[in-house]
Formats: sequence, structure tokens, C-alpha cells
Amino acid sequence: MMGMAKPKKKVRTKGKGAYVCRRCGRVGYGIIRKYDLYLCRSCFLEVAPLMGWKKYE
Ligand SMILES: [Zn+2]
Repeated sequence: MMGMAKPKKKVRTKGKGAYVCRRCGRVGYGIIRKYDLYLCRSCFLEVAPLMGWKKYE
């Protein structure tokens, strides 16, 4: 059997499952993937109000 059945999504990774912030390019595990945002927390907090978000909790 083949041992590469891991589903790959449209994510650019730099390492072991780390995600990249689309805004600042920071790599880390604190990236918010919810709603396909792919933003780090600090960027999300900046962008969220612009997008109509009130607070991320
Ligand atoms: Zn960021």
C-alpha cells in the first residue's frame, strides 16, 4: 500500500504544518485559519474591525 494518503490543502507551509500569515508572512501555529483567513493573531485583530468583525474570542 502507499503511505502517502495525507490530504493536502491549499496551504503554503514552511515546515511541519505551520501556516503563514497572508498579511505579514509570519509563520507559526497561531495563524487563524477560521473562515479561510490565514492571518496571525495580531494581523487578525487589525483586520477584523475592517471586515466587520467585532472581537475575536
Ligand atoms: Zn500577520
